[in-house]
Amino acid sequence: MKGTIVNIQKYSIHDGPGIRTTVFFKGCPLKCWWCHNPESQSTKNQIMFFQNRCTGCGICVKRCPEGAITIKNMYPVVDKNKCTLCGNCTDFCFNEAREYVGQEISVEDLIKEVQKDEIFYEESGGGVTFSGGEPLLQVDFLSEALDLCNKKHIHTAIDTSGYAKWEDVEKVADKADLFLYDLKLIDDEKHKKYIGVSNKLILENLQKLSSLGKRIFVRMPIILGINDDNGHIDESIKFINTLNNIEQVNLIPYHSMGMDKYERLEMKYKLSGKEKPADEKMEELKGKFEKAKIKVKIGG
Ligand code: SF4
Ligand code: SF4
Repeated sequence: MKGTIVNIQKYSIHDGPGIRTTVFFKGCPLKCWWCHNPESQSTKNQIMFFQNRCTGCGICVKRCPEGAITIKNMYPVVDKNKCTLCGNCTDFCFNEAREYVGQEISVEDLIKEVQKDEIFYEESGGGVTFSGGEPLLQVDFLSEALDLCNKKHIHTAIDTSGYAKWEDVEKVADKADLFLYDLKLIDDEKHKKYIGVSNKLILENLQKLSSLGKRIFVRMPIILGINDDNGHIDESIKFINTLNNIEQVNLIPYHSMGMDKYERLEMKYKLSGKEKPADEKMEELKGKFEKAKIKVKIGG
C-alpha cells in the first residue's frame, strides 16, 4: 500500500517521548488559522516557490513541457490550469527556488526509513510519530504502517486533530502506543470560526478513546486573544478531568514560524501580527492545570 506524505523529519524531540522520527502525512480536513504546516493541508501535491532564491534565469520556463510558466516582473508565474505537477521545473531549478511538496511512498519504504534511527529510539525511549496534516485521513496506509512498526517493535504515536470518523480512530486505536490529541477550542462557535468545523466529533472521539484506556497526551496550542482566556482554559480543565488516562497536557505556545510558507504556496495567512505568548503567561496557564492536579508541560 502507498500513501502520500510531505516529509520525514528525523531527531524530533517535540512529538512525543524520546528521540523520534516524525512522518508528516499530506492532507487535513481542518484549516486552523495558526497552522504552521500549510503545505500539509491539501491532499494534492503542490509546488512551493521561494522568491528570494529565484534569479529569474528562466530555465524553468524552458523545461516546462506544458508551457505553463512565463516570466513576469523578473519572476516565474505558473498558469495553474496548464500545470500538471510533473515536477520538471523543480528538478531543473538549480537555485532550489521551486520545491515539490508531496511524495508517494510505500509502507515498506517508509518503515525502512524509520528503522534507520532505531538505535536512537532504543536509547531515548523514542519511536515514530505519525503526524500531518491529519494521519487519519489515510487510515488504511496508517494502519499498515502501524502493523509493520509493531512487528519491528518500534514505539508509535499518532498526532491527530481527532476530526475523523470514529470507525477510523477505532481501527488504529489498539495498534498505536500513544495518541497526541489536539484540543484547540472548547467553544464550538469559535472552533467553527478559527478551524472551519464543529468540535463535536473531536470531543466525542476523545471521550471514546479515553474510555478505551488508551495512553493520551492532550496538546493545546495557546494563541493570544483566541484561546488563552480563563473561559477556555477552565472549560478545558473541566472536560479533561472527566476523562480517563490523560497522561499529560502539553501547552504549546503559538509561533509564527510557518508564516512564510503561506506566501510560497499562494495561500492567505489569517493570523498575521499575533505575538508569541510570554513565558509568564504560559506559566500562569500551567499553574491552573497543576492546581487541578493535571500533569502539564509547556511545549511539545
Ligand atoms: S529555474 Fe529557478 S531560479 Fe530560474 S527562474 Fe525558474 S524558479 Fe527562478
Ligand atoms: S510542475 Fe511541470 S507542468 Fe507544472 S509548471 Fe512545473 S514543469 Fe510545468
